[in-house]
Amino acid sequence: MIAVVLGDQLDLDSPVLQACSAVVMVEAAEESRRIHSHKARTALFFSAMRHFAQSLRERGYAVHYRHLEQGHEGSLVDQIMSMVDQLPKAGLRMLEPGDWSIEQAIKKACQAQNRPVEFVEDPHALCSRKDFARFAQKRSQLRMEYFYREMRQRHRILMHANGEPLGGQWNFDVENRKSFGVGGPKAVVASLRFAPDTTTKAVMAAIESHLPELPGSCEAFDWPVNRSQALQALAHFVDQLLPQFGPFQDAMWSGEPFLWHSLLASAINLRLLHPMEVIKAACSAYEHNPERYPLATVEGFVRQILGWRAFMQGLYWLNMPAMSRANYFGHQAPLPSWFWSGHCQMNCLKQTLLQTFDHAYAHHIQRLMVVGNFALLAGLEPKAVADWFHAVYVDAIDWVHLPNVMVMALHAMGPGISSKPYIASGQYIARMSNYCKQCAYRPALREGDRACPFTVFYWDFLKRNQALLEKNPRMFHAIRQLKVMDTATLSKNAQQAQRYRDTIDSL
Ligand SMILES: Cc1cc2nc3c(=O)[nH]c(=O)nc-3n(C[C@H](O)[C@H](O)[C@H](O)COP(=O)(O)OP(=O)(O)OC[C@H]3O[C@@H](n4cnc5c(N)ncnc54)[C@H](O)[C@@H]3O)c2cc1C
Ligand code: SF4
Repeated sequence: MIAVVLGDQLDLDSPVLQACSAVVMVEAAEESRRIHSHKARTALFFSAMRHFAQSLRERGYAVHYRHLEQGHEGSLVDQIMSMVDQLPKAGLRMLEPGDWSIEQAIKKACQAQNRPVEFVEDPHALCSRKDFARFAQKRSQLRMEYFYREMRQRHRILMHANGEPLGGQWNFDVENRKSFGVGGPKAVVASLRFAPDTTTKAVMAAIESHLPELPGSCEAFDWPVNRSQALQALAHFVDQLLPQFGPFQDAMWSGEPFLWHSLLASAINLRLLHPMEVIKAACSAYEHNPERYPLATVEGFVRQILGWRAFMQGLYWLNMPAMSRANYFGHQAPLPSWFWSGHCQMNCLKQTLLQTFDHAYAHHIQRLMVVGNFALLAGLEPKAVADWFHAVYVDAIDWVHLPNVMVMALHAMGPGISSKPYIASGQYIARMSNYCKQCAYRPALREGDRACPFTVFYWDFLKRNQALLEKNPRMFHAIRQLKVMDTATLSKNAQQAQRYRDTIDSL
């Protein structure tokens, strides 16, 4: 068997490596062009792949590796098949890919060559595709909260022996939504970062010469690129940052791109870390020192990985390929030009986008309630928004960015899958950050030159979609507020929203 290893399958214990005759790995330039991937994201993938290939060689595997500098063209799958063709005839074995279209393309190519291919179940998935399908079959509506409770029970995480959750409740969200107040964040500890080594530097140089057109920059590149660095980053996070992670996980502050977030998503997604080892590291800290690691904080962190991450993975495989075309609200607007530069007048978006281009990173609430919220309220086309998210974040992989964008941020698959659209006016951003204090607009204003586009679009979105939204009990309060607005106010708001849509590139 020939083992094919993709850039997000860098697990030295992967079952596909067992008794394989050769390992094939390809750096395909087209993968980065197809989704116009941020330079740092591309550098992370290729550098981590080169480190992984080197570890395999040291373990005696016959690694056949195609570097970007070799200048091969063609899709990832075409290049894999052409390399496999040069090896003694054998079937292929690989982990389930993290991208539906790549899985389809491999199946098709193997069929055309009459070559057997075996997809091995992903040992890093906390809920397999089959188990998620079984969970979904039992329900008319899918809700993360119920999935998460089942996962806590199945994996026995933060549970009493009698099946009750530790602390007597499943969810400590209320304690985990604090903002900083006027004083701002105090004593933020930096996460552990890694200066580019010679391998990463070589990859960065190759990207500059072969893929100069890609967005973003590698200047601030400091991501863990191998398992040893990923383990150090995890230990540092648990030791230094986790105690503060919980209360402020939704808060935002100018000039503080990372706060107490773990920055571990890319290492987990590339399989440098197993999601369960990350969960267990957090739980073990709580067990040994509950005073330093409050249960609310640890549960808040566990929920992100055992709950949201695994739920997103399940949703993706259950709903592909329909998810990639979803557009519940029928939105068609193209992305404003400043999505690719960050230079706009809205300070919340400017801060989020500029840090995105510098670091290929923004934290969850910046992605959801700033970029995603704007995209939904302004009526941007979901596929274009999803491609943008795929391009710019270092941790983006199809199975994880797509459900986050389509289901969570844009409600593009409708109410069957997400309980309500995550929308908010500028007042939410004002409460959770200091962005509005340095902005050209005012979060409370709906009229005039300084009216906040989020606030204007928020009321306009509710009005435009009232018929769809008023059936949803979780939208009751918002729709009730809309209903008490008089016709003149609504009409002025609609005109202001139209003016903003017409001039969206200069907002
Ligand atoms: C529109 C949108 C797009 C997103 N795109 C991606 C993406 O491409 N890749 C990605 O890994 N995450 C994505 N997320 C989820 C989340 O924003 C990132 O995982 C997180 O910001 C990564 O930073 P961190 O490692 O510091 O996370 P932390 O805030 O420290 O959270 C801890 C871990 O929880 C996991 N996690 C938390 N929320 C989610 C979630 N909703 N889905 C999956 N994992 C989650 C991640 O593994 C993360 O490392 C997206 C969220 C939104 C709203
Ligand atoms: S006023 Fe509106 S546009 Fe400006 S930072 Fe606040 S929410 Fe963003």
